[in-house]
Amino acid sequence: MVQVRLKTRRLSKAPKTWPCPVCGKRGRRYAFRERQAVDAELGRPAVVKVRVGLYAARCECQKVFESFHPELPKGWKFSLRVRELAVSGVVRDKLSVEGVRERLREEFVVQVSEGCVHKWLAEAGGKNQS
Ligand SMILES: [Zn+2]
Repeated sequence: MVQVRLKTRRLSKAPKTWPCPVCGKRGRRYAFRERQAVDAELGRPAVVKVRVGLYAARCECQKVFESFHPELPKGWKFSLRVRELAVSGVVRDKLSVEGVRERLREEFVVQVSEGCVHKWLAEAGGKNQS
């Protein structure tokens, strides 16, 4: 078997200030944090690593908050790329959920659960909250 090296894509979203998610007043960055998720790359396993900032609030809403990259909001285990591949597989290519999971597994070496795909479809179908 051929040894396939993990592909790492690095992104950064950590400007000096970032708006409070509640009131919008900007806080100042005091630290960095790295988040990572499974990414989609043809034929090889991949991760995306995002450097985000931690911000000290200058308002009363909460003490600290974190910036986020649109490709990888906090809490996501899979990158936006993986999500879009799954959603477009069903919506555009008319694959079944099982068919999409098979494509991700065989072409992108990504394992996603059926529940994940259903959740992403639901989120893509409704209005995006963020
Ligand atoms: Zn605030």
